Amino acid sequence: MKDLSNENVIHIKDEKLEYLQFRKLLEYKDVVSHAYALGLDVGFKTTTINQKPATLERLELAKNSYKKLCSSIESDYAHIVQANQSHTDIIKIVDAKINKDEPDFSLAEEGIEDGLITNKKNFMLATTNADCILLLFFDPVKKVIANTHSGWRGTLQRISVKTVQKMIKEFGCHTQDIICCICPSIRKCHFEVDKDVKDMFQNEFCDIEENKFMDIQENKEKTIHITDFIEEKIENTKWNIDTVLINKILLQKEGLKPENIVDSGICSVCNSDIVHSYRMEKKNYNTETAIIELK
Ligand SMILES: [Zn+2]
Repeated sequence: MKDLSNENVIHIKDEKLEYLQFRKLLEYKDVVSHAYALGLDVGFKTTTINQKPATLERLELAKNSYKKLCSSIESDYAHIVQANQSHTDIIKIVDAKINKDEPDFSLAEEGIEDGLITNKKNFMLATTNADCILLLFFDPVKKVIANTHSGWRGTLQRISVKTVQKMIKEFGCHTQDIICCICPSIRKCHFEVDKDVKDMFQNEFCDIEENKFMDIQENKEKTIHITDFIEEKIENTKWNIDTVLINKILLQKEGLKPENIVDSGICSVCNSDIVHSYRMEKKNYNTETAIIELK
């Protein structure tokens, strides 16, 4: 059986499920619990904005997945507050739950957000991904946690830095204390883009040396279907972008210590046999979850 353990993460396999934990966060396991699920199905959407509607089966599957994961890390399933993600840079402070005995699965009327922060116990902050980056933040001094979804659009909007800035502004955190753990996501090896997306990154991050985060694949051949019996082969340039590295550089520039930026180093596409990947599963994709809670 595949084992994704490395110097930064431990791959836990119990009889019910598999998940990752960051060694750095386990140093504080008396005050914080966390996990990144592997192969769990928590994909459902309750919003109707550009997203598929929730089906009861998907919702039940998600609930059962969360129950298994929470019981495995000895947390309470009813503590879950899941972000209603929409590729924004909106970060919400969590200080109350709506449902008492059930998770808050961020119903559409509660708004959208791609980051959650709290300094209170008993809120299990949850985000979901299938290739996007999920970031778990923890300040062991101020006892503040955050959980942020930063896909390529969120990365362009610098949501990781905005999360840190909100932890500082709202809870008095200091950048040198903040730990940021980077969950499995699509990596440079598979994040291939066309010129339009490449240009957005080049324009936004002109303060970062671009050869650091971008590779060019010149003259890739592309087949264009013209009629039933004619195809045209054209030269098609593609770029590979390292969104994880961009986030690391931005967080370091913001003042986080390099040793406090802890990367799982795992590509969801390369490991799509055990990690859900949108690019591999296409339209019926399911999602993984990252969860974090103060004890
Ligand atoms: Zn890959």
